Amino acid sequence: MPSFFSSKYQHLEAYTPGEQPRDKAYIKLNTNESPYPPAEGVLKAISTEAVNDLRLYSDPTCLATRKAIADRYGVEPENVFVSNGSDESLAFLFMGFTEPGAVFADITYGFYKVFGDLYGVDYKEIPLNDDFTLPLDAFCRAKGTAFIANPNAPTGLALTTAEIEKLLHSDPDRLVVVDEAYVDFGGETVVPLVKKYPNLAVVQTFSKSRSLAGARLGFTIASAEIIAGMDKLKYSTNPYNVNRLTLLAGKAAIEDEAYFEKTRNAIMEARAYTKAELEKRNFTVTDSKTNFLFAKTDKMDGGELYKMLKDKGILVRHFTAPKICQYNRITIGTMTEMQTFIAKIDECLGEREGTDHA
Ligand SMILES: *Cc1c(COP(=O)(O)O)cnc(C)c1O
Repeated sequence: MPSFFSSKYQHLEAYTPGEQPRDKAYIKLNTNESPYPPAEGVLKAISTEAVNDLRLYSDPTCLATRKAIADRYGVEPENVFVSNGSDESLAFLFMGFTEPGAVFADITYGFYKVFGDLYGVDYKEIPLNDDFTLPLDAFCRAKGTAFIANPNAPTGLALTTAEIEKLLHSDPDRLVVVDEAYVDFGGETVVPLVKKYPNLAVVQTFSKSRSLAGARLGFTIASAEIIAGMDKLKYSTNPYNVNRLTLLAGKAAIEDEAYFEKTRNAIMEARAYTKAELEKRNFTVTDSKTNFLFAKTDKMDGGELYKMLKDKGILVRHFTAPKICQYNRITIGTMTEMQTFIAKIDECLGEREGTDHA
């Protein structure tokens, strides 16, 4: 029997989502979700009426939600594209805006490479500097659409607005896509630069700072021309790309600025606590501007620490790429969860000492 799957996809290496094990209750610090529920208005928006309306298709223009996002960021609805998670925005940007090729860091969001392969893009990975900072000059010199996660994942490090502006300025004919999935935890957004630079597209998500990972909602802010191109791709693949309940949930979430401020501040406080506690125990911890920390210890191997923590009911994310395999990425949960995390770290370090001396 023939394989019915197209040969061009047979060797595609798909994205590996963080594990979601069901064997026991874990403290989940592995997929950068928010430890807090969505804003109160979200539950109210999912009314009986809204559920009954699920018999109808969703609004393909997503207008009410785009308007709410546009108001929040000081742009026009024609500058906003909403998508099924920001992954879908990124998919369209890779699909339709990479004719001159693409460049991205060797250590960054794993999906860029997957999309590059999926859409047959001629891409180049630029190695991060040894301290995990982004080699800005190499990006300025490179040809092709630049995809930059800012702050970057899993390193947590951020470029300043001035640095992004330098890249935009270096070649006005090159599109720069800035993926701001984590920007609300201490980074600087470049959304205000969209008016000045037609070669900028900013991608954001409701999955992290707005507690809606499971609703799947993201967006792109860019020139009306870029948004029109993304719309064309969407109407050629899935016109009703965002479902009714998610459109309502997203609108309610973005309208509750007070809750947004409260929860992101709580996460940044818990991050500061966790970073300080890890550093007291001689961990190396990057200067994270995100809702996770990237940390290593010379007392034990990164993979070994990951396994010990898992046995103790704490899930963190470990990557096997040689450059970063000594590190673990630790999502910031509630303060209570982070206190438990630190207590378990102490157990791991203690047990490790024990075996060393045995
Ligand atoms: C989480 C994440 C996304 C994707 O988020 P969605 O859930 O698809 O909105 C995009 N980019 C980066 C860097 C991320 O970490």
